[in-house]
Amino acid sequence: MIVGLLGLQGAFPDHIRHLKRLDADYRVIRDAPALAEIDRLIIPGGESTVMGKFLEAFQMTAPLQERIRRGMPVWGICAGSILLAETADGAPGILGALPVAVKRNAYGRQIASAQKPVNVPLLDRPAFPGLFIRAPRIISMKKGVETHARCGDDPVFIQHGHVMATTFHPELTDDPVFHEYFLRL
Ligand code: GLN
Repeated sequence: MIVGLLGLQGAFPDHIRHLKRLDADYRVIRDAPALAEIDRLIIPGGESTVMGKFLEAFQMTAPLQERIRRGMPVWGICAGSILLAETADGAPGILGALPVAVKRNAYGRQIASAQKPVNVPLLDRPAFPGLFIRAPRIISMKKGVETHARCGDDPVFIQHGHVMATTFHPELTDDPVFHEYFLRL
C-alpha cells in the first residue's frame, strides 16, 4: 500500500516522520501520472487557494476527483478539508468530495491561531492537542457525515466513508494516532 502525500504546497513535509514511524510506504506526489501510483492520499494543510491553483495548473483536479469518486481513501487537513468540501465560503469546492460546507479562516487571523484540547473518543484520546491554524469551520454537513470529534460545538474531525477531514493539524504533534487511523481506513 502506497500513501500519497500531496506535495504542491503547505505542511506536507511534517507528515513524513509519522509515515516513517509507521513503516508506511509513501510518495510525495506533484503531478497527475503519480496519482496512478498511490492507494490513498493525504492533502496537507497550507493555503487552499494556492493549492487549488496548483491542482489546476498541473491538471490534477479531474483525475483526483475521479480517484476519490472510485473510492480512494483521502484525508484532508485544514486547507485540505477546504479543498475536499462541497462548498467553501458559499462557492463550489475545488474537489467537492465531502458533502459539507466550510467557512475559511472562521476563527480569525493568524494571531487567533491556538492549541485547544480535543476529545477524540474514537482514537482513545480525551485531550488531543488540537493545533488550529487559521482553521476553517465546518458550518453544515449532509446526512452520512460522521463527527468523530468536536471543539466546543464545532465538528473538527469528520468522516464520510473513505474521506476524512480534520480542521486541525495532527502532523504537528508527536502522536501518530491519526495517521494510524488513516492507514487503516
Ligand atoms: N486558512 C487556510 C486556507 O484558507 C488554511 C490554513 C491551514 O491549512 N492551516 O486555506
